[in-house]
Amino acid sequence: MLPVTVEHAAQTPSIFLESAYFNFVLKAVYHATKTVLAFLQRDSVLYWPFLISTLAIAWLAWRVGSAAPDPGTKSSWRAFSRSHLSRELWWHPSARLDYRFYVINGVVFPLLAAPFLFGEQVVANILNSLSTTAPGLAAAGTSTGVVITLVFTVVFFVAYDLGRFLAHSLLHDVGILWEFHKVHHSAEVLTPMTTFRAHPVDLLVMAWGGALVTGLATWLFHRFVHSGITFYTFLGLHVMIWVFSLIGNLRHSQVWLSYGKTLNYWLISPAHHQLHHSAEPRHHGCNRGFELAIWDRMYGTLCVPTDVPGRLQFGLGDDTDGRWRSVGRLYLWPFRLLAKRVQGALQARRA
Ligand SMILES: [Zn+2]
Ligand SMILES: [Zn+2]
Repeated sequence: MLPVTVEHAAQTPSIFLESAYFNFVLKAVYHATKTVLAFLQRDSVLYWPFLISTLAIAWLAWRVGSAAPDPGTKSSWRAFSRSHLSRELWWHPSARLDYRFYVINGVVFPLLAAPFLFGEQVVANILNSLSTTAPGLAAAGTSTGVVITLVFTVVFFVAYDLGRFLAHSLLHDVGILWEFHKVHHSAEVLTPMTTFRAHPVDLLVMAWGGALVTGLATWLFHRFVHSGITFYTFLGLHVMIWVFSLIGNLRHSQVWLSYGKTLNYWLISPAHHQLHHSAEPRHHGCNRGFELAIWDRMYGTLCVPTDVPGRLQFGLGDDTDGRWRSVGRLYLWPFRLLAKRVQGALQARRA
């Protein structure tokens, strides 16, 4: 009998499986810790400066009056907390489901989706390798000027916003993808945690949209304008995304805040996105943008917020509202609805 050496032990299948299992557990613990400590993660919308800015802007909007239902009580903190920090809102069954889903999907999504995720650099590198023989302008060198970096910072941001708009539009317009995006729209109340109520398929489509368009923009810029350049960052995040993140959490909130007559045609305010979540049929599919309203204008889906609309009803506006209240349903119902859709299509073809 051969003596069991270290090398032999390392090749033993059971030990290999144990080690794969150990790695899996380690990864799961890592993602769970990251999820719970999101307020310390600089790339999370729950990073503590963004939480503070969210509360400060919500309070300011209340004081100024645009978000206050009753002008007589608008300056009172008690009235503010009754309206925006109430148990009725934050402990609503839909909100509680958001918290559970946030924790579970914070572990499940990275583990499931890691092999399918890629960044803009991968896209840019592929395009570069495909285009080595194609004619193009010579790159302008590797030194970085302020102006050129500023231009690339804006180009990258616009590309990122366009990529996410296109991905979001696909989620609304392609029937099979809509079944997965329904998870996000099934929320009956909006809190910043609703941001994370998205099916893994939905999250993948969004990630691909952003990476593909920013990858294309990066490649074009590096090839035809200036090579070896990157965008300005602040605390490790694209500087413009950082600025918009200061108010981004209010997209999923009950705080009605819009940017006024002119800016509402250029930028997506929290109120725009609240209309996007409205259960009213006239709002369905409107305001798909994230920061810029120009894409919705061009696509004909912009719905400009005007006056305070009273209390908006959020949800899908169909007969399933209020029935998505479990983590299992959020994960599995899209597949069931998809199967129904395919079955219906097959039956219609046979008829
Ligand atoms: Zn949303
Ligand atoms: Zn949507």
